[in-house]
Amino acid sequence: MTAKYQRMNGSVCSGATDPMRMIWYSSCTFWTDELDILDTSRGVPLCPLCGSPGFQTTAEAWFGGIASHDKDTPGYETFMLTGPGRKNVCNGRGFSTGELWDQHV
Ligand SMILES: [Zn+2]
Repeated sequence: MTAKYQRMNGSVCSGATDPMRMIWYSSCTFWTDELDILDTSRGVPLCPLCGSPGFQTTAEAWFGGIASHDKDTPGYETFMLTGPGRKNVCNGRGFSTGELWDQHV
């Protein structure tokens, strides 16, 4: 995984606006579409700050899920896009986004 932006099928995509670009996220709350910053030294992508393993989805699903959750939980989108849950922020191994949200509200 060396391309900065990549689709789920492994192809390199046009950049940060491609809705099918891969989002990588972890239980430590770190999420990113800049795949070249992940730690791949152990053969699987890991959070570059705490080493937690992660999951993958598309930007379309990621941001759609955030917007959908915001309808029932007002403020969640701001929290995830510019607040404590924002891109490229690690809150530590085993510290979930739900726990971070609970501390936020
Ligand atoms: Zn982390």
